[in-house]
Amino acid sequence: MSRLKAPPFLTDQRLSGELWFAADLHLSAQTPRTNAAFLAFLEQAASTADALFLPGDIFDVWIGDDLATRNPPAWLAPILHGLAATSKKTRLYLGRGNRDFLMGQALARLVGGHLLPERIRLHTDYGCVLLSHGDEYCTDDKAFQRFRRVVHQPVIQKIFLSLPLSWRRRVAAWARNRRQATNQSKSMQIMDVAPATIQQAFKTADCRLMIHGHTHRPALHKHSINGQSCQRFVLPDWDCDTPGDVRGGWLALNEAGVVMQDLVSQEGVQPAPLQYGDP
Ligand code: MN
Repeated sequence: MSRLKAPPFLTDQRLSGELWFAADLHLSAQTPRTNAAFLAFLEQAASTADALFLPGDIFDVWIGDDLATRNPPAWLAPILHGLAATSKKTRLYLGRGNRDFLMGQALARLVGGHLLPERIRLHTDYGCVLLSHGDEYCTDDKAFQRFRRVVHQPVIQKIFLSLPLSWRRRVAAWARNRRQATNQSKSMQIMDVAPATIQQAFKTADCRLMIHGHTHRPALHKHSINGQSCQRFVLPDWDCDTPGDVRGGWLALNEAGVVMQDLVSQEGVQPAPLQYGDP
């Protein structure tokens, strides 16, 4: 496999044992059942996993760490407590998604977690895994990528975070309405990852496994990169508050391979492991 130079935001971490991954929980004041399911999941992770990765959109919106550090609202306090209790038993990693990209070091410190860079290369017992939220792969959605570039600018974030909480709430509500309105007119294909961008990411990271969320289309995709088979796992989103459409799940990885665990059935699916040692 070609060894392209890794971009500066890609860092490396060596981790052994049982690693769990869950994303796109979209927790908020409006999702009491999902919040409760997440708390139960945290307890399970704390007692089973050696590390828990939450790569983005843990929260439906995040308007600043001071929401958590000053006087957290009633829906948020138990979640912060649950995260803090989890990090006492297992390593906890928080990644920023396109909804909660303003999560910062103050929140990570508060709950005893580590903030993830945009992309990280994990050297696990099962091989090298490229982990990210996944929104950066949706490069066909030009309007979204433009928005993303703007809101990722430090000066823009600084200005926003200096506003009173009540103003930030209003801006967030406006952004949400705008997103919902524009997403309705976008095709499913535009909002999915771009195949060429995925190919490039595999090549740049020189990994044969990729895990991301964001698209809400849980799946195992097989790719062939420079003649080698690669696997891309898309994490499911969680929703326990919409009757008739309850869903969620996580991915467990250890030296034996990967298990995709369903929240509702509590059943796990183990895809055929990746064959290493190909020519
Ligand atoms: Mn997302």
